[in-house]
Amino acid sequence: MSDFLDYSAIKRKIESEVCAGHNVSPEFIKTAKGFQINSCCEEFKDKLVEKAKKNIAEQTKITVEKMLKKAFKR
Ligand SMILES: [Zn+2]
Repeated sequence: MSDFLDYSAIKRKIESEVCAGHNVSPEFIKTAKGFQINSCCEEFKDKLVEKAKKNIAEQTKITVEKMLKKAFKR
């Protein structure tokens, strides 16, 4: 259901983060069920998952609004 989302924007945002403890950037992977984040430690990963969820919620809202606008334009 979330296939219409712009995951590349979310991927860019997540991969621009750097772990404060290890100075390593994570890897964002789009999967069939949603997404997966590979990072150096669990603590950083938890933070990124939260951030990614927030971003996906925002993207969903923007995409739905765009679709609605298109649907009502005649
Ligand atoms: Zn780390």
